[in-house]
Amino acid sequence: MSRFISRRFDSLKEYVPGEQPQDKKYVKLNTNESPYPPAPGVIERINDAEVRNLKLYSDPECRRLREMLAVQYGVEIGNVFVSNGSDESLSFAFMAFCDADCGAIFPDISYGFYKVYANLYGIRYTAVPLLEDFSIRPSDYYNAGATVVIANPNAPTGIALTIAEIEEIVKRNPDNVVVIDEAYVDFGAESAVALTKKYDNLLVVQTFSKSRSMAGARLGFAIGCEALIADLNKIKFSTNPYNVNRLTCAAGEATLAAQDYYNDNCRKIIETRAWTAEKLANLGFSMTDSKANFLFAKHESMDGEALYLALKARGILVRHFSADRISPYLRITVGSPEEMQALIDALTEILQNGGTV
Ligand SMILES: *Cc1c(COP(=O)(O)O)cnc(C)c1O
Repeated sequence: MSRFISRRFDSLKEYVPGEQPQDKKYVKLNTNESPYPPAPGVIERINDAEVRNLKLYSDPECRRLREMLAVQYGVEIGNVFVSNGSDESLSFAFMAFCDADCGAIFPDISYGFYKVYANLYGIRYTAVPLLEDFSIRPSDYYNAGATVVIANPNAPTGIALTIAEIEEIVKRNPDNVVVIDEAYVDFGAESAVALTKKYDNLLVVQTFSKSRSMAGARLGFAIGCEALIADLNKIKFSTNPYNVNRLTCAAGEATLAAQDYYNDNCRKIIETRAWTAEKLANLGFSMTDSKANFLFAKHESMDGEALYLALKARGILVRHFSADRISPYLRITVGSPEEMQALIDALTEILQNGGTV
Protein backbone atom coordinates (compact mmCIF):
# COMPACT_ATOMS: atom_id res chain seq x y z
CA MET A 1 0.00 0.00 0.00
CA SER A 2 1.45 3.33 -1.01
CA ARG A 3 -0.85 5.78 0.76
CA PHE A 4 -2.32 5.76 4.24
CA ILE A 5 -3.30 9.28 5.23
CA SER A 6 -6.77 10.52 4.33
CA ARG A 7 -7.01 12.49 1.10
CA ARG A 8 -8.39 15.44 3.00
CA PHE A 9 -4.87 16.10 4.30
CA ASP A 10 -3.21 15.98 0.88
CA SER A 11 -2.67 19.71 0.72
CA LEU A 12 -1.96 20.19 4.44
CA LYS A 13 1.46 21.75 5.11
CA GLU A 14 2.50 21.11 8.67
CA TYR A 15 4.04 23.68 11.01
CA VAL A 16 7.85 23.67 11.04
CA PRO A 17 9.18 24.35 14.55
CA GLY A 18 12.49 26.16 15.07
CA GLU A 19 15.48 23.83 15.13
CA GLN A 20 16.20 22.03 18.40
CA PRO A 21 19.59 20.66 17.36
CA GLN A 22 21.11 17.88 19.45
CA ASP A 23 24.50 17.75 17.67
CA LYS A 24 26.37 20.35 19.72
CA LYS A 25 25.82 23.14 22.18
CA TYR A 26 24.68 26.35 20.49
CA VAL A 27 24.01 29.80 21.82
CA LYS A 28 20.34 29.21 21.22
CA LEU A 29 18.52 32.36 20.14
CA ASN A 30 16.04 30.80 17.71
CA THR A 31 12.87 29.76 19.57
CA ASN A 32 12.27 32.56 22.09
CA GLU A 33 12.91 30.45 25.18
CA SER A 34 13.91 32.17 28.40
CA PRO A 35 17.64 32.23 29.20
CA TYR A 36 16.73 31.90 32.89
CA PRO A 37 15.82 28.63 34.62
CA PRO A 38 12.51 28.04 36.41
CA ALA A 39 12.27 29.48 39.94
CA PRO A 40 13.87 27.42 42.76
CA GLY A 41 10.37 26.60 44.07
CA VAL A 42 9.55 24.87 40.78
CA ILE A 43 12.63 22.69 40.93
CA GLU A 44 11.86 21.72 44.56
CA ARG A 45 8.26 20.95 43.74
CA ILE A 46 9.15 18.24 41.20
CA ASN A 47 10.29 15.86 43.93
CA ASP A 48 10.13 12.10 44.61
CA ALA A 49 6.55 12.27 45.82
CA GLU A 50 5.34 14.05 42.67
CA VAL A 51 7.10 11.51 40.50
CA ARG A 52 5.63 8.59 42.48
CA ASN A 53 2.19 10.11 41.94
CA LEU A 54 2.63 9.75 38.19
CA LYS A 55 0.95 6.37 38.59
CA LEU A 56 -2.29 8.35 39.02
CA TYR A 57 -4.11 10.33 36.35
CA SER A 58 -3.92 14.08 36.69
CA ASP A 59 -6.89 16.22 37.74
CA PRO A 60 -8.70 16.72 34.42
CA GLU A 61 -9.96 20.07 35.71
CA CYS A 62 -6.59 21.29 37.04
CA ARG A 63 -8.55 23.06 39.75
CA ARG A 64 -5.69 24.33 41.91
CA LEU A 65 -3.73 25.68 38.96
CA ARG A 66 -6.81 27.37 37.48
CA GLU A 67 -7.67 28.86 40.86
CA MET A 68 -4.19 30.37 41.13
CA LEU A 69 -4.41 31.76 37.60
CA ALA A 70 -7.84 33.23 38.38
CA VAL A 71 -6.44 34.99 41.46
CA GLN A 72 -3.42 36.31 39.58
CA TYR A 73 -5.50 37.66 36.69
CA GLY A 74 -8.47 38.90 38.73
CA VAL A 75 -11.06 36.59 37.16
CA GLU A 76 -13.09 33.56 38.33
CA ILE A 77 -12.00 29.95 37.95
CA GLY A 78 -14.79 29.45 35.38
CA ASN A 79 -13.03 32.00 33.16
CA VAL A 80 -9.81 29.98 32.95
CA PHE A 81 -8.88 27.11 30.62
CA VAL A 82 -5.49 25.38 30.78
CA SER A 83 -3.86 23.48 27.95
CA ASN A 84 -0.85 21.52 26.75
CA GLY A 85 1.07 24.61 25.66
CA SER A 86 -0.88 27.59 24.36
CA ASP A 87 -0.72 25.93 20.94
CA GLU A 88 -3.41 23.58 22.20
CA SER A 89 -5.66 26.46 23.34
CA LEU A 90 -5.24 28.00 19.88
CA SER A 91 -5.92 24.69 18.17
CA PHE A 92 -9.09 24.18 20.24
CA ALA A 93 -10.18 27.76 19.50
CA PHE A 94 -9.91 27.18 15.74
CA MET A 95 -11.83 23.90 16.15
CA ALA A 96 -14.51 25.40 18.38
CA PHE A 97 -15.09 28.83 16.87
CA CYS A 98 -14.61 28.33 13.12
CA ASP A 99 -16.37 26.15 10.57
CA ALA A 100 -17.39 26.10 6.92
CA ASP A 101 -19.60 29.19 7.44
CA CYS A 102 -17.44 31.14 9.85
CA GLY A 103 -13.86 31.33 8.67
CA ALA A 104 -10.83 32.90 10.30
CA ILE A 105 -8.95 36.12 9.67
CA PHE A 106 -5.41 36.93 10.76
CA PRO A 107 -2.37 38.89 9.52
CA ASP A 108 -0.39 37.40 6.61
CA ILE A 109 2.80 37.71 8.63
CA SER A 110 2.16 36.24 12.07
CA TYR A 111 2.47 33.02 14.02
CA GLY A 112 2.76 30.29 11.37
CA PHE A 113 0.47 27.92 13.22
CA TYR A 114 -2.75 29.90 12.49
CA LYS A 115 -2.62 28.91 8.83
CA VAL A 116 -1.85 25.31 9.74
CA TYR A 117 -4.81 24.99 12.11
CA ALA A 118 -7.13 26.56 9.54
CA ASN A 119 -5.98 24.06 6.91
CA LEU A 120 -6.07 21.13 9.34
CA TYR A 121 -9.70 21.81 10.22
CA GLY A 122 -10.79 22.81 6.71
CA ILE A 123 -11.47 26.42 7.67
CA ARG A 124 -11.49 29.20 5.08
CA TYR A 125 -9.23 32.04 6.11
CA THR A 126 -8.21 35.51 5.06
CA ALA A 127 -4.58 36.49 5.57
CA VAL A 128 -4.55 40.31 5.76
CA PRO A 129 -1.29 41.92 4.61
CA LEU A 130 0.55 43.87 7.29
CA LEU A 131 1.22 47.49 6.39
CA GLU A 132 4.55 48.46 4.80
CA ASP A 133 6.12 49.03 8.23
CA PHE A 134 4.87 45.59 9.40
CA SER A 135 2.21 47.07 11.66
CA ILE A 136 -1.39 45.83 11.86
CA ARG A 137 -4.13 48.25 10.75
CA PRO A 138 -6.92 47.62 13.28
CA SER A 139 -9.72 48.65 10.91
CA ASP A 140 -8.80 45.74 8.60
CA TYR A 141 -10.40 43.53 11.27
CA TYR A 142 -13.63 45.48 11.88
CA ASN A 143 -16.86 43.59 11.03
CA ALA A 144 -14.72 40.69 9.90
CA GLY A 145 -17.52 38.13 9.66
CA ALA A 146 -14.95 35.58 10.79
CA THR A 147 -13.06 34.55 13.90
CA VAL A 148 -10.29 37.11 14.39
CA VAL A 149 -6.90 35.82 15.54
CA ILE A 150 -4.20 38.35 16.39
CA ALA A 151 -0.91 37.84 18.20
CA ASN A 152 -0.20 40.85 20.41
CA PRO A 153 2.69 41.57 20.30
CA ASN A 154 2.76 40.08 16.83
CA ALA A 155 5.33 37.46 15.84
CA PRO A 156 7.88 37.64 14.33
CA THR A 157 7.73 41.45 14.25
CA GLY A 158 7.33 42.11 18.00
CA ILE A 159 5.08 45.09 17.23
CA ALA A 160 2.19 45.57 19.66
CA LEU A 161 -1.25 47.10 19.29
CA THR A 162 -2.49 49.30 22.14
CA ILE A 163 -5.26 48.10 24.40
CA ALA A 164 -7.57 50.75 22.90
CA GLU A 165 -6.94 49.33 19.42
CA ILE A 166 -7.65 45.78 20.64
CA GLU A 167 -10.85 46.93 22.34
CA GLU A 168 -12.04 48.59 19.14
CA ILE A 169 -11.49 45.34 17.19
CA VAL A 170 -13.41 43.37 19.83
CA LYS A 171 -16.23 45.93 19.89
CA ARG A 172 -16.53 45.93 16.10
CA ASN A 173 -17.00 42.15 15.95
CA PRO A 174 -19.90 41.59 18.36
CA ASP A 175 -20.99 38.37 16.62
CA ASN A 176 -17.57 36.80 16.22
CA VAL A 177 -14.92 35.54 18.59
CA VAL A 178 -11.71 37.56 18.78
CA VAL A 179 -8.69 35.56 19.93
CA ILE A 180 -5.73 37.59 21.20
CA ASP A 181 -2.58 35.48 21.46
CA GLU A 182 -0.48 37.10 24.19
CA ALA A 183 2.50 34.73 24.12
CA TYR A 184 4.87 37.72 24.48
CA VAL A 185 2.74 40.20 26.41
CA ASP A 186 4.88 40.10 29.57
CA PHE A 187 7.81 41.76 27.80
CA GLY A 188 6.25 45.20 27.52
CA ALA A 189 2.81 45.14 25.87
CA GLU A 190 -0.59 45.63 27.51
CA SER A 191 -2.75 42.59 28.25
CA ALA A 192 -6.37 42.43 27.15
CA VAL A 193 -7.36 40.09 30.01
CA ALA A 194 -9.30 42.83 31.84
CA LEU A 195 -11.43 43.37 28.71
CA THR A 196 -12.74 39.79 28.94
CA LYS A 197 -15.06 40.99 31.74
CA LYS A 198 -16.62 43.53 29.43
CA TYR A 199 -16.76 41.53 26.18
CA ASP A 200 -18.08 37.97 25.92
CA ASN A 201 -16.53 37.50 22.48
CA LEU A 202 -12.92 38.00 23.61
CA LEU A 203 -10.59 35.08 24.33
CA VAL A 204 -7.07 35.87 25.56
CA VAL A 205 -4.46 33.12 25.21
CA GLN A 206 -1.17 33.08 27.13
CA THR A 207 1.69 30.66 27.72
CA PHE A 208 4.21 29.60 30.36
CA SER A 209 6.75 28.92 27.58
CA LYS A 210 8.37 32.33 27.28
CA SER A 211 8.26 34.70 30.26
CA ARG A 212 7.85 31.80 32.70
CA SER A 213 10.76 29.62 31.54
CA MET A 214 8.65 26.48 30.97
CA ALA A 215 8.74 25.82 27.21
CA GLY A 216 9.59 22.17 27.81
CA ALA A 217 6.73 21.61 30.26
CA ARG A 218 4.01 22.57 27.74
CA LEU A 219 1.60 24.76 29.64
CA GLY A 220 -0.70 27.45 28.27
CA PHE A 221 -4.01 28.98 29.25
CA ALA A 222 -6.94 30.95 27.93
CA ILE A 223 -9.15 33.50 29.69
CA GLY A 224 -12.63 34.44 28.55
CA CYS A 225 -16.29 34.45 29.56
CA GLU A 226 -17.70 31.21 31.01
CA ALA A 227 -19.45 30.28 27.79
CA LEU A 228 -16.24 30.50 25.73
CA ILE A 229 -14.38 28.42 28.33
CA ALA A 230 -17.19 25.84 28.33
CA ASP A 231 -16.83 25.58 24.55
CA LEU A 232 -13.10 24.93 24.87
CA ASN A 233 -13.82 22.31 27.53
CA LYS A 234 -16.23 20.59 25.19
CA ILE A 235 -13.41 20.17 22.67
CA LYS A 236 -10.89 19.17 25.33
CA PHE A 237 -13.13 16.50 26.86
CA SER A 238 -13.77 15.20 23.36
CA THR A 239 -10.09 14.81 22.57
CA ASN A 240 -7.82 14.58 25.61
CA PRO A 241 -9.28 15.18 29.10
CA TYR A 242 -5.86 14.86 30.77
CA ASN A 243 -4.25 17.40 28.50
CA VAL A 244 -2.06 18.88 31.25
CA ASN A 245 0.06 16.24 32.96
CA ARG A 246 0.68 16.00 36.72
CA LEU A 247 4.26 17.28 36.71
CA THR A 248 3.41 20.23 34.50
CA CYS A 249 0.41 21.07 36.65
CA ALA A 250 2.57 21.01 39.80
CA ALA A 251 5.31 23.04 38.11
CA GLY A 252 2.69 25.56 36.95
CA GLU A 253 1.40 26.04 40.51
CA ALA A 254 4.94 26.55 41.83
CA THR A 255 5.60 29.00 39.00
CA LEU A 256 2.61 31.15 39.91
CA ALA A 257 3.80 31.19 43.53
CA ALA A 258 7.07 32.77 42.37
CA GLN A 259 5.71 35.56 40.17
CA ASP A 260 8.21 38.13 41.53
CA TYR A 261 11.09 36.03 40.21
CA TYR A 262 9.56 35.97 36.72
CA ASN A 263 8.74 39.69 36.76
CA ASP A 264 12.38 40.28 37.56
CA ASN A 265 13.47 38.08 34.64
CA CYS A 266 11.19 40.03 32.29
CA ARG A 267 12.73 43.28 33.50
CA LYS A 268 16.21 41.90 32.80
CA ILE A 269 15.19 40.69 29.33
CA ILE A 270 13.72 44.10 28.49
CA GLU A 271 17.01 45.74 29.54
CA THR A 272 19.04 43.26 27.51
CA ARG A 273 16.74 43.86 24.52
CA ALA A 274 17.51 47.60 24.63
CA TRP A 275 21.26 46.94 24.98
CA THR A 276 21.23 44.51 22.05
CA ALA A 277 19.13 46.81 19.85
CA GLU A 278 21.67 49.60 20.30
CA LYS A 279 24.61 47.33 19.46
CA LEU A 280 22.81 45.96 16.40
CA ALA A 281 21.99 49.48 15.19
CA ASN A 282 25.70 50.34 15.47
CA LEU A 283 26.46 47.35 13.24
CA GLY A 284 24.11 48.57 10.52
CA PHE A 285 20.90 46.75 11.44
CA SER A 286 17.44 48.28 11.44
CA MET A 287 14.72 46.82 13.65
CA THR A 288 11.03 46.93 14.38
CA ASP A 289 9.96 48.34 17.76
CA SER A 290 9.77 44.96 19.48
CA LYS A 291 7.82 44.55 22.70
CA ALA A 292 8.67 40.83 22.77
CA ASN A 293 11.66 38.77 23.94
CA PHE A 294 13.15 38.87 20.45
CA LEU A 295 14.41 41.43 17.98
CA PHE A 296 13.45 41.43 14.31
CA ALA A 297 16.45 42.85 12.52
CA LYS A 298 17.62 43.46 8.96
CA HIS A 299 21.15 44.39 7.94
CA GLU A 300 21.77 47.27 5.53
CA SER A 301 23.90 45.17 3.19
CA MET A 302 23.93 41.51 4.23
CA ASP A 303 21.20 39.09 3.34
CA GLY A 304 19.18 37.37 6.11
CA GLU A 305 19.92 33.82 5.09
CA ALA A 306 23.67 34.44 4.70
CA LEU A 307 23.79 35.97 8.17
CA TYR A 308 21.82 33.08 9.63
CA LEU A 309 24.27 30.57 8.11
CA ALA A 310 27.36 32.53 9.16
CA LEU A 311 26.06 32.72 12.74
CA LYS A 312 25.20 29.04 12.78
CA ALA A 313 28.73 28.18 11.64
CA ARG A 314 29.92 30.11 14.71
CA GLY A 315 27.61 28.17 17.03
CA ILE A 316 24.89 30.82 17.29
CA LEU A 317 21.39 29.87 16.27
CA VAL A 318 18.83 32.49 15.26
CA ARG A 319 15.61 32.16 13.25
CA HIS A 320 15.37 33.02 9.58
CA PHE A 321 12.12 32.88 7.60
CA SER A 322 12.27 32.61 3.83
CA ALA A 323 8.80 34.11 3.22
CA ASP A 324 8.78 37.01 0.77
CA ARG A 325 8.73 40.26 2.70
CA ILE A 326 10.59 39.00 5.75
CA SER A 327 13.46 37.07 4.16
CA PRO A 328 15.96 39.94 4.73
CA TYR A 329 15.29 39.68 8.49
CA LEU A 330 16.57 37.63 11.40
CA ARG A 331 14.46 36.95 14.45
CA ILE A 332 16.86 36.96 17.37
CA THR A 333 15.74 35.80 20.81
CA VAL A 334 16.90 38.04 23.65
CA GLY A 335 19.03 35.74 25.79
CA SER A 336 21.30 36.49 28.74
CA PRO A 337 23.70 39.46 28.54
CA GLU A 338 26.57 36.98 27.95
CA GLU A 339 24.73 35.33 25.06
CA MET A 340 23.99 38.68 23.47
CA GLN A 341 27.63 39.71 23.82
CA ALA A 342 28.56 36.50 21.98
CA LEU A 343 26.05 37.37 19.25
CA ILE A 344 27.42 40.89 18.82
CA ASP A 345 31.02 39.60 18.77
CA ALA A 346 30.14 37.03 16.09
CA LEU A 347 28.26 39.57 13.97
CA THR A 348 31.11 42.04 14.24
CA GLU A 349 33.50 39.39 12.97
CA ILE A 350 31.17 38.24 10.18
CA LEU A 351 30.61 41.78 8.92
CA GLN A 352 34.35 42.56 9.06
CA ASN A 353 35.00 39.50 6.91
CA GLY A 354 32.49 40.80 4.41
CA GLY A 355 30.07 38.08 5.36
CA THR A 356 32.10 34.98 4.62
CA VAL A 357 31.19 31.89 6.65
C1 LIG B 1 5.59 30.49 21.25
C2 LIG B 1 4.25 30.94 20.76
C3 LIG B 1 3.07 30.26 21.07
C4 LIG B 1 2.95 28.92 21.69
O1 LIG B 1 3.69 28.49 22.59
P1 LIG B 1 3.42 27.21 23.48
O2 LIG B 1 4.79 26.76 23.77
O3 LIG B 1 2.59 26.22 22.72
O4 LIG B 1 2.68 27.74 24.65
C5 LIG B 1 1.86 30.79 20.67
N1 LIG B 1 1.80 31.92 19.96
C6 LIG B 1 2.91 32.58 19.62
C7 LIG B 1 2.77 33.83 18.81
C8 LIG B 1 4.16 32.09 19.98
O5 LIG B 1 5.26 32.73 19.58
